[in-house]
Amino acid sequence: MENKQIKEYIEKTGKKYKEEYSKFVQQNAIQFYNIACVEISKIHRIQHHINIKNYYKPMEINSAFGIAQQFFNMHNIKINLKDLYDRKILVFYNDNGRRNNKYFGINFGPTSYQGYNKERGKFVDIILSKNIMDAFSIVHEVTHYLNQPNGLRNLTSDMLTEGISYGIESIFAQSLIDDNFMVEDAKLFIYNCQMEILAYAYKMAPIYRILHVYTNFKKINEKNYNKIITNGNYKNDISEFEIYLKSDRDYIRDTWNFLGKSTSTYFATEYRKDKNFVNKIIKLNDAINLMSFDYCLQLIDIRNLDDMFYKISDSLEINNLYILNGFKNT
Ligand SMILES: [Zn+2]
Repeated sequence: MENKQIKEYIEKTGKKYKEEYSKFVQQNAIQFYNIACVEISKIHRIQHHINIKNYYKPMEINSAFGIAQQFFNMHNIKINLKDLYDRKILVFYNDNGRRNNKYFGINFGPTSYQGYNKERGKFVDIILSKNIMDAFSIVHEVTHYLNQPNGLRNLTSDMLTEGISYGIESIFAQSLIDDNFMVEDAKLFIYNCQMEILAYAYKMAPIYRILHVYTNFKKINEKNYNKIITNGNYKNDISEFEIYLKSDRDYIRDTWNFLGKSTSTYFATEYRKDKNFVNKIIKLNDAINLMSFDYCLQLIDIRNLDDMFYKISDSLEINNLYILNGFKNT
């Protein structure tokens, strides 16, 4: 029997975006699944081997604000946070729980937000955690602000902006470690990021398997599933997908988050090799709304989408080893 409910959900979610969005995710579902597998197969070693504190030191927003500005200055990223704040583009809120990402569980605190609308133009809303996370949130969201067009983003922009923001956050964490400042908090942050990628990997793996079946046959049933999925469990994947669907998740949005979080490990590993890598990210930031996907990737030494998946898998492993080795390069 064909699973019509899931098929309809896949199509309905796709229609919320321009056609190229759902195509991009569906046609690359197996690649996203492969990234998830790499992450799942490596990470248990971290969970069992690492000894890390599990809370961030309290910090006033003024300090977080100052540290974020210092980070931008240090890397010649031209932004004046005080000016954004005075113009009410950058606004701070106390945590009211309204944007918690409960579906993926662990580590997901209140989520800050950057966007564009007619009333406010470009804006950045930061939900305060009163610790170093506020500095990370500012760096993440203000980096989005720097590549926000006046209006809707295109596919290239949507698929790459999270990678840039999470990547810059990872580089920020690395800079703190290199400068021997708030090192324990920075390590915890890097560790948590890796655990977040793992949470996505577990939840999204069955979703990508089913999307892969849909892409190939347009009909989701056990027979089609067994034709192209090895070592999978159809019934299990279907029930995972039903939970996903009932939680009102959006596989396109979740993919750009998962892709972004995963890509950030590439940015972090490249930065550890060569600090000037930040300049390439700044160029990428200027290009994502104007240039093609491949052109943008080439700015960061990635040849094309296949090469991107390859480099992400590689970096996930290098990043895992980096954490396992007590945050030391091998
Ligand atoms: Zn973001």
